[in-house]
Amino acid sequence: MDAFVSLHFSGAPKIVVEPPGPVAKEILEKQEKYEGNAVLYPHTLPFVPEEAKGATIKDVDGNIYIDFLSGISVLNFGSSNPIILEKTIEQLRKLTHTLDFPSKPREELAKRLVEIAPGELKNNAKVIFGGPTGSDAVEAAIKLAKYCTKRYVILAFEGSYHGQTTTALALSSGKKLKEPYTPLGPEIHFAPYAYCYRCPFKLEYPDCGVRCAGYVEHILEDPNSGVTTPAAIIVEPIQGEGGIIVPPDEFLKKLREITKKYGIPLIIDEIQSGMGRTGKWFACEHANVTPDIMTVAKSVGGIGLPLAGIVYNKSLDVWVPGSHMGTFRGNVVAMAAGAAAIDFANETKLLDHVEKLGEKTLKYLKDLAEESKYIGEVRGKGLMIGIEIVKDKETKEPSKELTAKIQLKCFKKGLIVWKAGHYANVVRFLPPLVITEELMEKGLEIFRNSLKEVEKE
Ligand code: PLP
Repeated sequence: MDAFVSLHFSGAPKIVVEPPGPVAKEILEKQEKYEGNAVLYPHTLPFVPEEAKGATIKDVDGNIYIDFLSGISVLNFGSSNPIILEKTIEQLRKLTHTLDFPSKPREELAKRLVEIAPGELKNNAKVIFGGPTGSDAVEAAIKLAKYCTKRYVILAFEGSYHGQTTTALALSSGKKLKEPYTPLGPEIHFAPYAYCYRCPFKLEYPDCGVRCAGYVEHILEDPNSGVTTPAAIIVEPIQGEGGIIVPPDEFLKKLREITKKYGIPLIIDEIQSGMGRTGKWFACEHANVTPDIMTVAKSVGGIGLPLAGIVYNKSLDVWVPGSHMGTFRGNVVAMAAGAAAIDFANETKLLDHVEKLGEKTLKYLKDLAEESKYIGEVRGKGLMIGIEIVKDKETKEPSKELTAKIQLKCFKKGLIVWKAGHYANVVRFLPPLVITEELMEKGLEIFRNSLKEVEKE
């Protein structure tokens, strides 16, 4: 779309020196010297970014990459989008921090979030801004559900990722991440997610009758399931870190029915899948399902500024002043950016662009899967796409090694992609939504060539 063409560096991708170049090496060495061992991303890609525009990023040695990562869905509206940037800088000059005293940008963003909220939440919701990260929003959602129900137990799903603070980590499924800290406190149970490619019940959709959702009902209904009625069920409408797992619509629909039947608040975590990522403002809209509480973060800060919050049904507005507090309960600059980003998306019909480009990209990848010996499955909605890499399409044996090879080859050719999945074997595409068709095609070509090279090796 014309509105998005001028937002990127021209000439991407452009590799002028094999990464990491000399300047990058120097900075990577400094990072290793001064920062702690928990630093993660540069161990996978030796990447030192310097400047980013739209869906392109320049590194410190002058290489320009196409961005299929968006800082994990943080830069949906494009890096340094000039229209959003102008409003952001204007706000930065005026006022930056107000605790939760009202301000124009704060109320503008809250109003817009209520206006774009899914289904029955639209114009019928309240917003509480949280701290800067998504994990804070998850903590707030759980606190609110517990406060409302006076219950303690939470039901989450296998393959989930909800963050790194104590409760958010407890709700996340990755054993390696949790093991050093268990027990993490809250009583949390995990049910199977609708991961049809690797169905834990070894059934096939639709003949399975969405058995995984039925299993949740079984847990609630059976007096001897061992699980007392939960304060909430928390679910990602499309699992991000889990491997871009897109459940059939019935999965969310059934969860909604079950939670209504048993009087359990349904929390939908839209931190990765929301803010236009799937071609709708929120991914749960594809299944026509409305949560009681929804978490938002990542791109809600408009231009990569940290901001998170919850949007919930007015009927759950039972907290009293001070029930949920914090110094950084929403930064005014991030709020101005967030409101400007929503306006930008509406004015440019960004969601239509996402839907169209997403369909085209999925088709390209599904065709590629037919001719590839390593692509087990391609799945996605809008511009949230996963490609599951396996050693053998028959046995579906996952391959972390092949996935890492493909990722590194893409990087060397000028494309940033990331991994996800239960076995780190899913190549994940999350480009800024403003990516043009031309940049998408170039990125796909790089992915294809990288895959082919790995197949030859
Ligand atoms: N929930 C989901 C679905 C996420 O994808 C993430 C992060 O990737 C989080 C929560 C945690 O957000 P943050 O990393 O900002 O704390």
